Amino acid sequence: MTDKEKLFAPLPPDAVPVADLKEFAEDVAYQFGYKIGYNGRLHIGTGGLSTLEWAFDILGWDDPHPYPEGECEWEGCREYASCGTPTAEGYKRVCGKHLAEYRKRANDERTI
Ligand SMILES: [Zn+2]
Repeated sequence: MTDKEKLFAPLPPDAVPVADLKEFAEDVAYQFGYKIGYNGRLHIGTGGLSTLEWAFDILGWDDPHPYPEGECEWEGCREYASCGTPTAEGYKRVCGKHLAEYRKRANDERTI
């Protein structure tokens, strides 16, 4: 079978759609990728792990890959937002340090 014939051959019934494969690779990258600071912003890296490298290859991502949407929502903080909390300004995704700060503020407001 030529390459062109392979390209246009019907897919086997158990073929995984490309969109599903990319969604899976993205889930793997975001869930297991290393959250690291790089050039002053949050990134995700493979840490040299072959499964993550494969996921990054599927996605066409550089290693490390920029991840600004994962940054703490505290003004000026670029740490990974590993926590979340309700605040006076709505729900915020924050780093551990700033979760403690929000909790301290909430306690201070209750004791005043
Ligand atoms: Zn923070």
